[in-house]
Amino acid sequence: MHRPLRLTIDSSALVHNWRWLADRAGVPAGAAIKADAYGLGARETMRALHGAGCRDFFVSVWPEAEELGAVPGDASLVVLHGVGPDDVEAALASTARPVLNSVEQVSRWKQAAPGRVCDVMIDTGMNRLGLRPDEIAALNGLSIDTLHSHLACADEDHDLNAAQLQRFREVAAQVPAKRYSLANSAGTCIGPTTASTS
Ligand SMILES: *Cc1c(COP(=O)(O)O)cnc(C)c1O
Repeated sequence: MHRPLRLTIDSSALVHNWRWLADRAGVPAGAAIKADAYGLGARETMRALHGAGCRDFFVSVWPEAEELGAVPGDASLVVLHGVGPDDVEAALASTARPVLNSVEQVSRWKQAAPGRVCDVMIDTGMNRLGLRPDEIAALNGLSIDTLHSHLACADEDHDLNAAQLQRFREVAAQVPAKRYSLANSAGTCIGPTTASTS
């Protein structure tokens, strides 16, 4: 049996939800528009949220960045998976910047795009996403816009959140970046201390 599905997007509700999160964050809040904005339509979502004041957009991989096309001049697009061995060409051709997730990716970026701005992910929670705190010497010489870490259990009220915040603060004190970001949507709801560390 064929059942056609229809999804109606209420962009005013989308904007309302983003504003709600941004208010809770107390700092500029970005928007992950990966996986076609979780099925809502990446381009339309970017347009609506940009109109509401969102300036930082995130996708997972370079083909998503390419498909999205032009990004407003006052906004930035960031590729969460960073720069793998097969991504260098796409990354150099793109106006988006990567989140470097490993020492390998850091070396690759330094070699392919010396001095070019990037983001970096730090693993503060043993979730194997990002550089370990004992690897941060590798970051010397990078031009970092945003230093990130990802909460492993943000949707649970877990002691790990506090431990990750503490570790992230220690790393942030040693790694110069324009901005520091720890909280995803669920993390933002925990409270202002995880939303912002700067
Ligand atoms: C998707 C993603 C986010 C954003 O998560 P939301 O729950 O959509 O806020 C943050 N960080 C990383 C590494 C992600 O992959």
